[in-house]
Amino acid sequence: MSNRTFTMIKPDATSKGYTGAILDQIIKAGFSVKAMKWTKLTKEQAGLFYDVHRERGFFGELVEFMSSGSIVAAILEKENAVEDFRTLIGATNPANAAEGTIRKNFAASIGENAVHGSDSDENAKIEGDFFFSKLEIF
Ligand code: GDP
Repeated sequence: MSNRTFTMIKPDATSKGYTGAILDQIIKAGFSVKAMKWTKLTKEQAGLFYDVHRERGFFGELVEFMSSGSIVAAILEKENAVEDFRTLIGATNPANAAEGTIRKNFAASIGENAVHGSDSDENAKIEGDFFFSKLEIF
């Protein structure tokens, strides 16, 4: 089991001014930041990041949304990081997310759902390497 996961604060949340509050909730939940950057994805980059969803009906909408504004990308560390972070963010659709989760607190819809969290140790490594060079991760 890896002790790292990867997250993005998505454009809906950065544009509404929720970045600080979301980072506060993440850090208070026991995660430490191992790499972080505030950046913006091109459509091509967003498409590559979400390549596994290319055949899904919502792919175009997802790429438009994820390239529409700033995102904050980060690698986080905690014991059991992937699973614990998925619990912290809540269900993909905020309408189904548990009380107190980040998506319940800050997300508006299934598409614009405030945060990303890796779904496996393998994807956490792939996604972290998508954004950060070795020099930027400690
Ligand atoms: P996650 O692992 O909880 O982020 O969920 P998925 O891997 O299933 O989907 C990836 C992302 O695609 C989600 O976080 C949403 O931003 C987006 N997404 C998923 N389902 C839908 C949908 O039905 N409509 C739209 N517009 N976006 C969706």
